[in-house]
Amino acid sequence: MSTVDADLDVESQGVQTDDLEVTQARAAQVGEMTVRRLLPLRTRRSVGAWCFVDHYGPMSVDGVAGMRVPPHPHIGLQTVTWLLSGNVLHRDSLGSEQMIRPGQLNLMTAGRGIAHSEESPAEHDPTLHGVQLWVALPDASRGTEPAFAHHAELPVTGVGGFAVTVFAGSLAGVRSPARMFSEIVGAELAAPRDVSAGVPLAPAHEHVIFAATGMARADDIVLRPGQLLYLGRGRDHVAVSAPAGSRLFLLGGVPLGERLLMWWNLVARTPGEIAAAVAGWREGRFGTVAGDDGPPLSAPPLPAFKTRP
Ligand code: MN
Repeated sequence: MSTVDADLDVESQGVQTDDLEVTQARAAQVGEMTVRRLLPLRTRRSVGAWCFVDHYGPMSVDGVAGMRVPPHPHIGLQTVTWLLSGNVLHRDSLGSEQMIRPGQLNLMTAGRGIAHSEESPAEHDPTLHGVQLWVALPDASRGTEPAFAHHAELPVTGVGGFAVTVFAGSLAGVRSPARMFSEIVGAELAAPRDVSAGVPLAPAHEHVIFAATGMARADDIVLRPGQLLYLGRGRDHVAVSAPAGSRLFLLGGVPLGERLLMWWNLVARTPGEIAAAVAGWREGRFGTVAGDDGPPLSAPPLPAFKTRP
């Protein structure tokens, strides 16, 4: 597998004001894939309830295995899988087996615990491009029963020339059918032609925006793939322009207001919860992922968690 574009190491613009901050993705490995990890940041663990943002590709997976993420556990979060090109097969310990394609949403609610795998099917499209997002479940909901939902159809609305698909929460009067647990927005903005538009925002939300394809301008700040612009709170819109063919993501929500402890694939609050989940995984208490014949992922050794002030 090889990355097609070379945007992994674009330089930080170093823009920082009270409200606006551009940060740089770090390169991370997911199996054989190198991905751009835009969130979490050392200085910002979540935006609304969004606590993890990986952007991968576009990359050629022609004639190679492609995505291979063996069975692994999650707690305390929802995974949001969204593709710009290609196809990926999801399986989980509830018995779900679901192919996903661009414009569709796979939403897995881990709640108290689930295991899943994601892989390119044996016969797959030649390119792969997508985002993998995590939403932290608020404390009151994080013990919920695990669930999986596939949404093949999502609402699309026009915003000043952008085709906006709302996959989580609501934007511009359009609401996703996906079941979320906090006030949130997750949307893809596609520019079928050169577009310059004011995108409406909920002032109670904080937001980030990033470009997955093309080069965008938000509030006069240039964004290339691999860069994340934090927009702060209190805005009722952001001015966005993008050339034809660009694909952008807008994520936001009411600030979570909870201190997360994230380690490996686990979103918790305390080291004890992480240790219990790892023990549960090692003891097989997350169940098995039917149909996935490969060995599951082993949890890395637990670190000595620092107690934060
Ligand atoms: Mn996962």
